[in-house]
Amino acid sequence: MATPKKFAIRTFGCQMNEHDSERLAGLMVADGMVATADEAEADVVIFNTCTIRENADLKLYSALGQMKAIKEARPQMQIAVGGCMAQKDRHQILERANWVDVVFGTHNLASAPRLLERSRSEGPIVEVLDAPDHEVNRDMAPALYAVRELAFAAWITIQTGCDNTCAYCIVPSVRGEEISRPFDDLVLEAEMLAASGVSEITLLGQNVNSYGRDITRRRPLFADLLRAVGRVEGIERIRYTSPHPKDLSPETIAAMVETPAVCPQLHLPLQSGSDRVLKAMRRSYKVDRYVDRLARARAAIDDLAVTTDLIVGFPGESDADFDETLEVVAACEFDSAYTFIFSPREGTRGALMSAQFIPEDVIKSRFERLKKVLDRSALRKHEARVGRREEVLVEGPSRRNERMLSGRTRQGKLIHFAQVDESLRAGSLVMVDVTHGAPYHLLGEYVSTVRAPRHKVRIPLLHS
Ligand code: SF4
Repeated sequence: MATPKKFAIRTFGCQMNEHDSERLAGLMVADGMVATADEAEADVVIFNTCTIRENADLKLYSALGQMKAIKEARPQMQIAVGGCMAQKDRHQILERANWVDVVFGTHNLASAPRLLERSRSEGPIVEVLDAPDHEVNRDMAPALYAVRELAFAAWITIQTGCDNTCAYCIVPSVRGEEISRPFDDLVLEAEMLAASGVSEITLLGQNVNSYGRDITRRRPLFADLLRAVGRVEGIERIRYTSPHPKDLSPETIAAMVETPAVCPQLHLPLQSGSDRVLKAMRRSYKVDRYVDRLARARAAIDDLAVTTDLIVGFPGESDADFDETLEVVAACEFDSAYTFIFSPREGTRGALMSAQFIPEDVIKSRFERLKKVLDRSALRKHEARVGRREEVLVEGPSRRNERMLSGRTRQGKLIHFAQVDESLRAGSLVMVDVTHGAPYHLLGEYVSTVRAPRHKVRIPLLHS
């Protein structure tokens, strides 16, 4: 029997991209290939790209540069570039790296195996569509066929694209308008994932709270979806990311409260604490409204962990604007935050505001000040958990110490504890007493096992 060909996928960017990579891997496996984590031995290497941040471009071209020597030594191997940067740059990728065989966009991910096959006889191919091709992507939709890195946890993409126009964001132009997947398909997918041993599901979308707005305006479909997935037997934990603050509805909060499987975790991107900057960013809410929605969520949902996104140095951000951000961030007491330095993305309004760009040294100092405030509140939140008993879903051995296990609490917090029992492995559900809180993780002591894993294997996918 011929040895199957090997593929490697390197993923840049967000969870949406990671999930697209899982689904790409599923297509490659269906094509008779096997996954490898070693790009040097792979017959096909796919780069699933991101273009949200400037350094994502640099990372991609540096990775492609490294692949050049490998391709020269093994000319029969193939390199494909897909995802957001491929959508945006198209032909430029082949101009900058002519050893790439295939370029495909965000709307025709499912074409990758066919394009790789064609390019074996036809040479380099660029195929990027400007709108989704439902025919091509039909087989791509279900997460069920994806090759998942964690067999006990799965993402389900509930919508693609975004109808908002945030001034710094390139997503609407590379991912298109919002398109919601059919409600019943999503519930069926959750049921099938549960049957295959998955116990945790994360619902993914650029603006999950507006899920279904393109299907009906009569019902808040996202709240319905939380409840429906929460009724699926075997699904013990549901998370979602991200809601836009303007669309976080009372119905969603009520569904979180009334659905036991929904975890007490809310990622609510603030971006700036200055109304002036929020307006320039075209975020459609003011600080007061954000704070009010957050307060309502906290009042309704017991023990809610809240995380956020913040951008430092949006064009025109003054010292006073930034001070307002620090004040709001301190008052909101976030559990953690993703902080970004503004980087102009071609094709966005923000990129046209060059006259108001903030000098690098000013941004750097603001970034450091913000990080201090965030670290302080994260530490306070984590120290407050010491002495509590937490339910932890084990993810596997700790990366730094293999005698320790790492897992996530229901709030989504990373916790490490000693491996006291060999039977404990990825997918086990255990109780752990928290003994120490640090800004980015907790430490704890194993107490008891709630249940053994419900699933099987782990498959190598690469992340950048
Ligand atoms: S809501 Fe704004 S930041 Fe989020 S994807 Fe849409 S345009 Fe981008």
